Order: sequence, then structure tokens, then C-alpha cells
Amino acid sequence: MSDALHDLGVARIAAKLRAREVSAVEAAQHFLLRMKAHDALGAFLATDEDVTLEQARAADRRIAAGDTAALLGVPIAHKDIFVTKDFASTAGSKMLAGYRSPFDATVVARLGPGVPGGAPGAGAVTLGKLNCDEFAMGSSNENSAFAPVRNPWDASRIPGGSSGGSAVAVAARLAPAVTGTDTGGSIRQPASFCGITGIKPTYGRASRYGMIAFASSLDQAGPMARSAEDCALLLSAMCGPDADRDSTSLDMPAEDFSRSLNDLVEGLRIGIPKEFFGEGLSADVRAAVDGALKQYEKLGAKLVPISLPRTELSIPVYYIIAPAEASSNLSRFDGVKFGHRAKDFIDPASKLSALEQMYRRTRAEGFGDEVQRRIMIGTYVLSHGYYDAYYLQAQKIRRMIADDFQQAFKVCDVIAGPVAPTVAWKMGEHGNDPLADYLADIFTLPASLAGLPGMSVPAGFGEGGMPVGLQLIGNYFQESRLLNAAHRLQQATDFHLRAPEGVL
Ligand code: GLN
Repeated sequence: MSDALHDLGVARIAAKLRAREVSAVEAAQHFLLRMKAHDALGAFLATDEDVTLEQARAADRRIAAGDTAALLGVPIAHKDIFVTKDFASTAGSKMLAGYRSPFDATVVARLGPGVPGGAPGAGAVTLGKLNCDEFAMGSSNENSAFAPVRNPWDASRIPGGSSGGSAVAVAARLAPAVTGTDTGGSIRQPASFCGITGIKPTYGRASRYGMIAFASSLDQAGPMARSAEDCALLLSAMCGPDADRDSTSLDMPAEDFSRSLNDLVEGLRIGIPKEFFGEGLSADVRAAVDGALKQYEKLGAKLVPISLPRTELSIPVYYIIAPAEASSNLSRFDGVKFGHRAKDFIDPASKLSALEQMYRRTRAEGFGDEVQRRIMIGTYVLSHGYYDAYYLQAQKIRRMIADDFQQAFKVCDVIAGPVAPTVAWKMGEHGNDPLADYLADIFTLPASLAGLPGMSVPAGFGEGGMPVGLQLIGNYFQESRLLNAAHRLQQATDFHLRAPEGVL
């Protein structure tokens, strides 16, 4: 670790700001310069120096007035799936190119100035909006309609997805922390592929208001940063009830997730699901994960063999439920209410009404291939005659997957395993084979379907020197325990402190 501002992480930058060793404006300028220098990574979709510096000046005024909000003046950036009033919000889609929201997502407001009419927010300053797969559908960021994102550990590889821009911004030290969203692994998998830390909280912890919807029963916001300590700071600011705006937001008071970071992990029972260590797991990932598990044993934790017998089924179940919900959510993009509308849509030979032709042309132009594929799958599994055979069956198995976790948590406190079967693959390697991407989600989907909190913690390096993450899954509302376990590992290892070559 160096003493450069961009390598300090959230906790130490926040302390420097509070001590007035650096101003929020200086901190913002420092990161804005780095963003420009590393533009080729493709991490950002929208930036606006004037907006960022104005927010930084506001933070400096709050600091001068003695305000001690947790993230006051800390520069962060948001996945472009969160709507923001000061930056365009596209969800990585042509459909929303240039779209301006009239309001900030609750998570953005809570981390920043605060929800209008509510308590002041944590005071972070926004550096810009981060590239992602279109409507968060993807595992490699190659589905972004705008630009590919490169993995700073090896520019010929994908950064993971869908929060790929988010993970790259942290790994390349373009922002000390960022937001991401996780529907089926989109915080954990890019965090693993880029050697950073990320946590998806229990479904309902963070408000989905202003998060452009993909699959509403699965979508969750969470922080991505270098360390568990930094993630805890952001998560504490992000979570909290928002029932007026998101009916699935939990009626639980905000929590201080930093409080138990230093608890001992002695006696912690770590469940090791045998289904996560089968044939599909590559040897290099396995070696890194085993190494992390050995560390835990040294710290006094106990490894307990468990079984999550329906792990494999999580792939077909997720790829029925998520597209079903997506097909419904994306019906709002009709060329009338939001974003793109086709210019020339009248075909004199067509028998369709002008309105219908406008819908069709607009959606064909605005949505990329993967989004169209999911809309078709989703519409199919929800249609009369197939609903019972696919959608309803998937819902039943989803419940069984959640029950399997509850069985497991009778004998363990947290579950550990790999995040993904391999390290980040080469760009273009999965070509036009969406199934290759879907199959690689096998270890992250179960916790998503069950609504459980999960995180990725740097655990070492594998093939090609690429980072490998350890996945930790907790029972409902056990985010503190996950962060505590991750923090303890990070005190015993330095994987989270390493930087890709040429970044520092
Ligand atoms: N890779 C999964 C998908 O393509 C998960 C994406 C996500 O979590 N947003 O749907």
C-alpha cells in the first residue's frame, strides 16, 4: 500500500477529510485526474467535473461547520443502474441514452446529500456513473451498449459483470468505493474478478427506489470497496427503511455494520458446501479458496461439511425467474414514457397500427441482443400453457433452495466457497454463447434466490495472476457477521491491498 490518496481507502480518506489534512475539493480533483488518465479502462459512462466539484464544495462547507457525517467529502461513484438527477442514467442501454432522472435513487441520496425532506445523508461526493451490462444482464460487462470495460489486472480480460465498471473503478483506484447491484451475483463476481471486496445485503435491506429494475424479487444494492472495513462504512449509510418508496424495503432501523468488525472468529462454524467444490471448479480457484479456509482455521474457526443439494438447479430456476420479471419490468420502455423512440417506424406495407409499429421499432433499436433474448424467454415462461410448467415450477424450487440454506444454517454460522468457477476470462471468449455466461453464475445464484446476504473477499490469485475471491454467505440480516469474518481474514492477509501493475 502506498500513501497516495487514491490508495488509502474510504476510512483513511474520511479521517483525513475530518482532520482537514485534505479538502473534499482536493480529494475530488485527485480522483478526477486519475479517471482521465485511466479512461481507456472504460469504467465510467458519465462524468461532470462541475457537478462533482460543486458537491465537493458543499461537503467542505459541511466539514467547516463541524458536521461529522461518516462519508463527508469522500469521493465515490455509482453504478449506472441508479438514477441520479445530476448525471445521465442509462443502465448501460441505448434505450436510456442521455436520460435524466428528476430525482436521486434512495441509495444515492443516503450516501450523498440525504433524501429530500429527510435526515442529512452521509455526505459522499459523486465522481460519476459506472459502466455496466445493459439493465444489469450479464457477467462480463460485454453487454454494455456503450463500451467494453477492461480488467486492470489484464486488459485483455473481462472485469466480470454486471457491475464491471464499479469493480474496475475500485481496483484501478479511480474511486475508493462505489455502489453496485446484485441480482444473481453482479456485486460478488466482478469483485472476485478484480480483486476487491463487495457485499450484497439481505434482500430488502437497501431501498430499490431509483434502481432501474431488472428482476425485482432479486435486485439488491450493495457497496464495493477495497476492504470489508470500507464496505461496512458504505453499507451502514445505504441501508434503512424506505417503505413509502419501495414496498419491499425492510422495516428495520439502519445499523452500524462497522461495530463488530473486530470480533473474534474463534469458534465460528464455517459451512463448506460440497456442491461448491465439484468437478466444475478450476484447480487454481480451488487452491486460493482452500488457502483462505486454512487461514480461517488458523484464526480458530471450524470448517463444517454441509450440503446445498439444489445448487445446480439454481441456474435453470434463476434463468426462468429473472427473465420473467425482466420481461415485465422492461415493458415500460415503449418509446412513449422514457428514453429512446424510433424516428422512422411506419412501413407502408405493414398491417400493424402506427402505434404498434412504433413500439416494435423502438424496442428493436433500443434493446441489445441479451436484453431481447431475456424478454423473449420471460414472455414465454409467463405465457398461458407454459406458466405452470416453467414459472410456477421455478418458484417452487426457489423455495426449496431457500429451505436448504436454513437446514445448513442449523450447523454453521456462515457458508464459504468460491464466487465463480474460474478467474476472469478473456474478452470475447464466451463469444455468442450466452449459456457459457449463465453456467458461470452457479455459485452466486443460490444466495440470490434465497435473498441471503453474500460477499466476495480477495483470497489470492489464480491462472494468469488473476484475482480470486472467497464467497461468504450468511443467514438473513447477518451482514455484520460476514463483514466481521471478512475483516479478520483481511487482517491476516494482504490480497485486498495489492494493486494491478501500473495502477499505483
Ligand atoms: N450474471 C447474472 C445475469 O446475467 C447476474 C446479473 C446480476 O446480478 N445483475 O443475470
